[in-house]
Amino acid sequence: MPPRSIHFRLTVWYACVLAAALGLFSAMIWLSLRQQLVNDLDRELAASATRFRSYFLREAAMESGNHLKSELEEFSQALPPSSYLELRGPHGFEFHYPERGGVNPTRPTRHVREIRQSFPMAADNFQLLVGASTESIYRTLELLRLLLIALIPAVIAIACLGGAWLSRRALRPVDEVTSAARTIGIENLSQRLPVPETGDELQRLTEVWNSMLQRLEAAVKTLSQFAADASHELRTPLAVIRTGAELALRRARSPESYRESLTEIEAEAQRMTQLVEDLLFLARNNASAEGMPMQPVDPCDIVRGVAAELRELAALRNIDVQLNLSDRGVAISGNAPALRRLVLALVDNALKYSRPSGKVIVSLTASEELVTITVRDFGIGIPAADLPHIFQRFYRADKARSEGGYGLGLSLAATIAQLHGAAIDAQSTEWEGSIFTVTFPSRQVRVAA
Ligand code: ADP
Repeated sequence: MPPRSIHFRLTVWYACVLAAALGLFSAMIWLSLRQQLVNDLDRELAASATRFRSYFLREAAMESGNHLKSELEEFSQALPPSSYLELRGPHGFEFHYPERGGVNPTRPTRHVREIRQSFPMAADNFQLLVGASTESIYRTLELLRLLLIALIPAVIAIACLGGAWLSRRALRPVDEVTSAARTIGIENLSQRLPVPETGDELQRLTEVWNSMLQRLEAAVKTLSQFAADASHELRTPLAVIRTGAELALRRARSPESYRESLTEIEAEAQRMTQLVEDLLFLARNNASAEGMPMQPVDPCDIVRGVAAELRELAALRNIDVQLNLSDRGVAISGNAPALRRLVLALVDNALKYSRPSGKVIVSLTASEELVTITVRDFGIGIPAADLPHIFQRFYRADKARSEGGYGLGLSLAATIAQLHGAAIDAQSTEWEGSIFTVTFPSRQVRVAA
C-alpha cells in the first residue's frame, strides 16, 4: 500500500479515530463502573452503621460491660466480609470489630472506604466508624483494565483489516478509470471511460470526464477539419501560380506575354494572401478577444471607409451603393480593423451576389441601446437549405453560384461579431435578395452628447 494513496490514508485515519473512540469508551466504562461499585459499598456501609447503631441503642439499655461487647461482637459477625467497625464512648468505652490484636486479620490501611457517625445516648456522645476494604473493587477494576488493554488493539487490528479491504474495494473503480484514462490519447479520443454504476461521486466524476472527452473530441475534429480545409483551399491558388509560372517559362515569350502571366500570378498570390490572413485571424481570435484591443470606434466611419474601398468594384459592376447612416454621433467599443473586416465581408458579398446594375443599401441606425448595421442587396439570394450553414467555415452555398470566394468571409464576420458581443443574422429569399444585420448591444454603445 503506497503511503500517499487514499487507501492507505483512509486506513490510518480510520485506525486513529477508532483507537481514540475505543480509548474514550473504555475510560468511561472503567470510571463509571468504579463509581458504581464505590457507591454501592458506601450505601452498604451506611446501612450497616444504621443497623449497628439501633442494635447498640437497644442492647445498651439492657446490658453493659463485657456482656454488651460480646452481644455487639456477635451482631458484627453478620456484617459483610472485610468490614470493620469501631465504637467509642465516654469513660474510655471502646469496641472494635475485628478485635484488636485478636485472631482476626488486622484492619487494612490502604484502599478503604469509611463512614463516621456520632450519636447521643442518655447524656453521652458516641462515635461510630464503619469501614470496608475496597480491595475487591480494585481487583475487579484491574481485571477490566487488563481485559480492555488486551482487547482494544485486537479490535483495532481487525477493524483496520476490514477497513482496508472495504476502502480497497471502494477505490478499485478509481484504478480502473485511471488505467482506462491512460490509454486515451489524441488518436482514440472517441473512446470513453467505463462508468461505474455506483450512483456515487465516482460515477458523477467519470460522467463529467466523459462529457469533457466528448467536447475535446468535437474541438479536435473541428480543428483537424479546419486544417484539412485550409490546406485544401491553399492548394488551388498554389497550383494556379505554379502552372502559370511553368507555362510562362516553357519557351521564350514577348514581354507582354510575361507581364500577363505575372499579373495573373500576382492576382492569385493576392487572393492567397487574403486567405492566409483570414485563416490566421480565425485561428488567433477563435475563442478570445485577447490581442484585439477595444477602443471607442465610430461605426459610421467604418461603413464609409468600406464603401470607399469598394467603390471601384461597385463601379465595375455598375452597382449603386447607398449609405443610410444615422446622424447621431455614436461610438461603440470595438476593434476598428476587425470591424472593418466584418463590414467589408458583408458589403463585398452584397456586391458579389448582386446582379449587374443592381443596388446595395448599407444602413446604420443608432439608439441609446442598440447600434444596428444592415447590408441589403437585391441579388440572387440564398436558398433556404443553405441559409443555416452560411456562417460555417469554408461553406459556399452553391459552388456554381459562388463568386470565387473561399467561404470564409461570413464565418470571419460571425467570429468578429461574437468577439464584440454583437448578434449577426441573415435573411434571404432566393432570386430576390438578402439582408444581413449586425446588432451591437447596449453595453457596447455610447451616444455622443
Ligand atoms: P464566400 O467567400 O464564398 O463569399 P462567405 O462566407 O462570405 O464566402 O459566404 C458563404 C456563402 O454564402 C457564399 O458562398 C454564398 O453562396 C452565400 N452568400 C453570402 N452572402 C450572400 C449574398 N449577399 N447573397 C447571396 N449569397 C450570399
